[in-house]
Amino acid sequence: MNDKITLTQPVISLKGVGEKVAERLQKIGIEQVQDLLFHLPLRYQDKTRLLPLGSLRSQQEGLVEGVIKLSQIKFGRRRSLLCHIEDGTGSLVLRLFHFSKSQQQQLAVGVRIRCFGEVRSGPSCLEMIHPEYQIITDDEIVPVDTDLTPVYPTTEGLHQLSLRKLLKQAVVCLDQGSLIELIPDEARLHPVADTSLEQALRYVHQPPPDANVQQLLDRQHSSQRRLAYEELLAHQISMRQLRLQIQQHQAPVLVGEGKQRQALLKQLPFALTKAQQRVVEQILTDISQPRPMQRLVQGDVGSGKTVVAALAIIETISAGCQAVMMAPTELLAEQHLHTFKVWLAPLGINVGWCAGKQTAAERKQVLIDIKSGDIQVAIGTHALFQDEVTFNNLGLVVIDEQHRFGVHQRLALRDKGRRADMVPHQLVMTATPIPRTLAMTAYADLNVSVIDELPPGRLPVTTVVVPETRRDEIVTRVHAACKEQRQVYWVCTLIDESEFLQCQAAEKTAEQLQQALPELRIALVHGRMKSADKEAVMQAFKQGEIDLLVATTVIEVGVDVPNASLMVIDNAERLGLAQLHQLRGRVGRGNVQSHCVLMYHPPLSQNGQARLSCLRESNDGFVIAQRDLEIRGPGELLGTRQTGLPQFRVADLMEDQDLLAVIPEAADHFLATTPDRADALVARWFGHKIDFGHV
Ligand code: ADP
Ligand code: MG
Repeated sequence: MNDKITLTQPVISLKGVGEKVAERLQKIGIEQVQDLLFHLPLRYQDKTRLLPLGSLRSQQEGLVEGVIKLSQIKFGRRRSLLCHIEDGTGSLVLRLFHFSKSQQQQLAVGVRIRCFGEVRSGPSCLEMIHPEYQIITDDEIVPVDTDLTPVYPTTEGLHQLSLRKLLKQAVVCLDQGSLIELIPDEARLHPVADTSLEQALRYVHQPPPDANVQQLLDRQHSSQRRLAYEELLAHQISMRQLRLQIQQHQAPVLVGEGKQRQALLKQLPFALTKAQQRVVEQILTDISQPRPMQRLVQGDVGSGKTVVAALAIIETISAGCQAVMMAPTELLAEQHLHTFKVWLAPLGINVGWCAGKQTAAERKQVLIDIKSGDIQVAIGTHALFQDEVTFNNLGLVVIDEQHRFGVHQRLALRDKGRRADMVPHQLVMTATPIPRTLAMTAYADLNVSVIDELPPGRLPVTTVVVPETRRDEIVTRVHAACKEQRQVYWVCTLIDESEFLQCQAAEKTAEQLQQALPELRIALVHGRMKSADKEAVMQAFKQGEIDLLVATTVIEVGVDVPNASLMVIDNAERLGLAQLHQLRGRVGRGNVQSHCVLMYHPPLSQNGQARLSCLRESNDGFVIAQRDLEIRGPGELLGTRQTGLPQFRVADLMEDQDLLAVIPEAADHFLATTPDRADALVARWFGHKIDFGHV
């Protein structure tokens, strides 16, 4: 009997669990009875009420009952059994592709049937395909369920029904009272945290008959939110632990003479903004410590992050160490290489290059020079972090546009360049303006600096939204801009299509534009071009030798040509807000008024309209990110790939922003009062190893 089983016993003590099932459960992190309790329902099925057939909508899931008015086998592409049922309010078709002779006889005209399933729109009317069903005989009163039915995440070989049975047993074990509340009162900073853990778990696994069904279905019940609070807290604490772990290591103390930094500043045609100065100070302070810096610099596109990185790199070199800067695309890495050569070569600093598309001989030499320390600053793509790359004396790792990399990569890079107990300092930079609450979650292991000021004199880019039907007008506009010695980007997007198709589209567009505008100097850049060719085109564009650059989204990040003042984005409706904002950031970098034309192919969906208007109305990355979050939800906006956020079980980064807001402080209190419980809390929610989703 269950009443002897406690929560910390292995699941094998439960009825129905043998070696095989225990093994399968272990695969999804369930070893003890208690782990089952933290295996939370994904959603619920509502079999507590009968829905009138007349009220059904497509995609709705529900319980219905009716009398079969017509039952026939249809021979189409696939043989199917169709039963038309009616209940006086409307009708519905039940469709079975697999059915036996006896089923066919059972589902005869006049029979009353109760079904549960998802409603879909069929060829002529609403249908349920393979519903769960039950025949109701006339003299019988069959009650509906009193409770919602939880639906659990399963794994291969583990049936939903078996999981439900196990959970029933596990909930009984809750009565043994061995469930430990890990969150101390001090860390309960939100009213939802006042519910007891036991109560919350019991509720979500077995919602009582009087439960507020809609709230539960919407994941808004206080029990669910109580669990979300704990999950978010556990996540925050695990990130803090990660941070502490790194802090155990030594890092080189990087303090230079400052002369070289001064030399760069003198050489620049501009003065740093206050925000840049502040962030540089923060970084210099960090790297002067014998503990590894773990700092994120957030700054909207064009806020001037590159020069901030350059100053940190110079400091590193003058302190006698090497630095490395990694960019997500080869194109951006090449831009950086060029910029850094201009900035650093006059200071006598040797800048090297490491990317995927080098010849074997080139690469060999680069590897030798990095190892010997001849290359003091290595710029490149992720090719820099392959095993064969060894540094002589790596002091600083800079990762640009970190949102393009996953969190794993960020963590893996921490290990790069580790010698004995020495870990290099790490600076990550991103323009992804994610809302503050999300940033605190995604980057809880980092210190965050924000460059919250654009260089002076920048005029906000004006944005218009135009249908493709007005293409000719836009071409005229491109012409006019080039006549005024301005330069133009024409971006061809094809989301979800292969890179090959994207490049093809760009090639075609370039040809068409060249025909329409024969006197313009037009060039093309896309991802399938050779590295050297791409670089040559970009340099020519930068030098003003090209008027119009037709490009794929390879130019999304980092490309910096201040004289470009017009950007046309073809098929703009296909891109997300964040990406459009990044692209648009390629113009408006000089002191003239810049424009962005978002060209769409009508008809534009409502959602598409909302997104494009948002860009037209705002130039502020944070405002745009917040809107994007509202329109698309955090999964789309961030994706685990981008943030490295784990898949949460109950927490929802959009719905739970109010919880997120207090979590960092709650974590402070938790760690101050009950540091010894941190491991247990993290293990309870994330197992022994936190799962950052797939990359
Ligand atoms: P991002 O933050 O998007 O990486 P960049 O570092 O590419 O921005 O800088 C954008 C442009 O602004 C570059 O041309 C850069 O030289 C210039 N810039 C950077 N800082 C300043 C400043 N303080 N004043 C004027 N221009 C600046
Ligand atoms: Mg940049």
